Amino acid sequence: MDQEFLPFTRPTINEETIAGVADVLRSGWITTGAQNLAFEAALSEYVGGRPVRTFSSGTATLEIGLRIAGVGPGDEVITSPLSWVATSNTILEVGATPVFVDIDPRTRNLDLNLLEQAIAPRTKALMPVYLAGLPVDMDRLYAIARQHGLRVIEDAAQALGSSWRGQRIGAIGDLVSFSFHANKNLTSIEGGALVLNDEAEACLAQKYRLQGVTRSGFDGMEVDVLGGKFNLSDVAARVGLGQMPHLARFNEQRRELARHYFECFANSAAVALGVELPPDDFEHTNWHMFQIVLPLPTLKLDRAGFMAELHARGIGSGAHYPAIHLFKLYRERGFTLNKFPHAERIGASILTLPLFPAMRLADVKRVVTAVNEICEHSSLTH
Ligand SMILES: *Cc1c(COP(=O)(O)O)cnc(C)c1O
Repeated sequence: MDQEFLPFTRPTINEETIAGVADVLRSGWITTGAQNLAFEAALSEYVGGRPVRTFSSGTATLEIGLRIAGVGPGDEVITSPLSWVATSNTILEVGATPVFVDIDPRTRNLDLNLLEQAIAPRTKALMPVYLAGLPVDMDRLYAIARQHGLRVIEDAAQALGSSWRGQRIGAIGDLVSFSFHANKNLTSIEGGALVLNDEAEACLAQKYRLQGVTRSGFDGMEVDVLGGKFNLSDVAARVGLGQMPHLARFNEQRRELARHYFECFANSAAVALGVELPPDDFEHTNWHMFQIVLPLPTLKLDRAGFMAELHARGIGSGAHYPAIHLFKLYRERGFTLNKFPHAERIGASILTLPLFPAMRLADVKRVVTAVNEICEHSSLTH
């Protein structure tokens, strides 16, 4: 019999939040205001009291992080080719040049040895990406940054609730950027937040967020930097605020589901046929995604075909992400194939399986059974 379609992700929004949004809509003030201040305060508390400012998206947050770090034309920023294209687009957006280095195929994050080798006179900042919520080795990253006098803008879009050696991502480090896009572990529908070092930086972030405006007293408006329009509405902030008390439970549920994936994949046909599992790092990640890598050379299907087979069994999946340097915009800027072999192989064969707080353990079993079946049916070696 037909089962209900299982998407690869789905937000959990409770009735208290929905009622809270209705209150904001009725309040007479629906754009940036009290709800944003409350959301920023809650986020700041979550990251150990560091200053936090919200923005309209994770992309806007990254871009403003780059501006605050003083990155602009002529500068290079080292980043990962295996990310959502927003990461390097923001580097181009501020007039700088993204410098990609290959990933470590085990963590699927920037290889820090290659990162260190890529540091050059024009390098201004590092932008590591925490794919699926798994941070890089933060001790090593910041040792490199300090040694070379570089700023760090962490693309922690996926890593709210992740940690490094017992400290939350955002509670340590330089500039840390989160996204609250609908698919992230905590959502404000769209939105993002930047963790900053001090109030002076937070003040500048606020100016970049809204037309460069500063206010001082009655009628004392001044504009002294070129800012944009990147503020978050109070309706969106209320959604994010409504999720904050549940974040720990959401992430615990993700963790339990991820554990069950490992149990179900142990001794499975899929693994025997070459499917690669994610690193089983239960200490540091928030399990934003559970991603396998398909052994495409030994399958009769490509990734799209594999996803179609899952879909036919009522299961959603995702491809996060194709290697960025192979997109037309980047090829036109001189990036070519065979530059970053791990990012290219994994970008072409990585598959995001369903994982979200409201999912049940039985759903995990169902997904793994389907993956096994498709691998067996499509294997060239079986
Ligand atoms: C989601 C995401 C972004 C961008 O966030 P938006 O809120 O969608 O603008 C940037 N980088 C990574 C790694 C992401 O996952």
